[in-house]
Amino acid sequence: MTPAKTRIAPSPTWFVHIGTLRTALWDYMIAKKAGGIFTLRLEDTDQSRYVEGSYDNLAKVLARFGLVPDEWPLPFPDLGNGPYAQSERLDIYKKEIQTLLENGSAYPCFCSADRLENLRKEQEAAGLPTRYDGHCRHIDPDEARRRMDAGEPHTIRLRVERGETLVFHDAIRGRVEFSTNEVDDQILIKSDGFPTYHFAVIVDDHLMGVTHVLRGEEWLPSTPKQILVARALGIELPEYAHVPLILGPDRKKLSKRTGDTAVEQYLAAGYLEEALINYIAFLGWNPKTTEEIFSLEALTEKFDLADVQRAGAVFDRTKLDWMNGEYIKALSVQDLYDRLSAYLQEYQRDFYEQTFSKKSPEYTRSILKELSTRMKRLEEYPGLTPFFYGEPEISSVDMFLNAKMKVSSIDDVRSALEMGIEIINNSTQSESLEQFKERFLSHIAEAGRKNGQVLWPVRVALSGAEHSPGAFELAAILWETESLTRLKRALAFLSGMQ
Ligand code: GLU
Repeated sequence: MTPAKTRIAPSPTWFVHIGTLRTALWDYMIAKKAGGIFTLRLEDTDQSRYVEGSYDNLAKVLARFGLVPDEWPLPFPDLGNGPYAQSERLDIYKKEIQTLLENGSAYPCFCSADRLENLRKEQEAAGLPTRYDGHCRHIDPDEARRRMDAGEPHTIRLRVERGETLVFHDAIRGRVEFSTNEVDDQILIKSDGFPTYHFAVIVDDHLMGVTHVLRGEEWLPSTPKQILVARALGIELPEYAHVPLILGPDRKKLSKRTGDTAVEQYLAAGYLEEALINYIAFLGWNPKTTEEIFSLEALTEKFDLADVQRAGAVFDRTKLDWMNGEYIKALSVQDLYDRLSAYLQEYQRDFYEQTFSKKSPEYTRSILKELSTRMKRLEEYPGLTPFFYGEPEISSVDMFLNAKMKVSSIDDVRSALEMGIEIINNSTQSESLEQFKERFLSHIAEAGRKNGQVLWPVRVALSGAEHSPGAFELAAILWETESLTRLKRALAFLSGMQ
């Protein structure tokens, strides 16, 4: 396999879109599989959209996922193809546009913004496609040059010859055909001297030696313009792969309104990087096995553009939650503790400072041992554990009663709590959770009670919650003194009921 060179070329808006992460991931896998190069280029030619700091944010986010580009400006090396931000490559575009002006594939356009605006309105009113009418196409080249040299404001447009069919191959879509009748005399250089995307992308991909261009399906209609630019410059096309859209639960393109589009939001919700990568890799592709958990290395080995589907891929939060849960389960307790601690410091600072950090790591690890099979996202931790950090609120007898468990009267509850107190009172430091469990269960059996009849009220007294780890586990984590205090407090509450 010949080494591939791929690139991700986002515009510097602040957040990293989930689709950008998927393209970056597939790009990375294609490059790494064949010992190639993964490049990052900043498409910042639209200065009005530039967001300060987005460059650093992008680098940070990609690095968190292990998708570190091989080349880009600091902190990555320049392999000789820089600069990598389009705003720093203006001289390059100036040189290339001269070639097009000289061979007649491009021409300067002196139309004012007002004229273009009126043209657009007229076309819209007549129900026609809005496009340039070729007004400046036929200006004599010498005259055009004189006007440009005199500093007359102008743009530079691509001269598109009508009536031609353009054909290109897309790695996902196969043969794609377009008529040049549908292609506008696209602006290549704006009046501020900056290139448009369509021009810069072709020049840069060529000069940077990009072999595979992966990008969202929404860019497919732009490809013919770019092909025309490439042809006019006499350069070879890269392999195109227009990747399927990512759809929300309503099967419409995932948008800010219908779902979360920013990668940062998923990190803030406590999805692990490797779970997100695993899930996102499958948005529109699968390795044709029943296995679903893959590391980045394993995904890279399996990935093949030829297996990417054309249809849009639905982003399924339930599936992602399941996968994240699997990753959480598979972590060692120490690893989970480290991840959680870092996560809380970054995203839930108050809880971290006022609650989490007040307890010993050992205490937290004992909680995590219990919780790791039930937690789907790290953000759930505070909500799953209030009873480990504060006294439970006992507000009514009803919370203790449970017909299914055969706890039907205050007396049932009281005798259960008394039994719990007795058992815990008799436990010793050296007793394991297993021994404690056994002792408790045989005591219940000897007393001729059902397990639930005793364990339900004990669990509620210890947690104050409808859902929590079981009575044994709670007691083992809270340990003796705290467990006894809670059981006694619940008992006292019940006495007040009479
Ligand atoms: N700048 C475009 C974007 O923001 C890149 C499209 C391409 O990869 O050609 O997605």
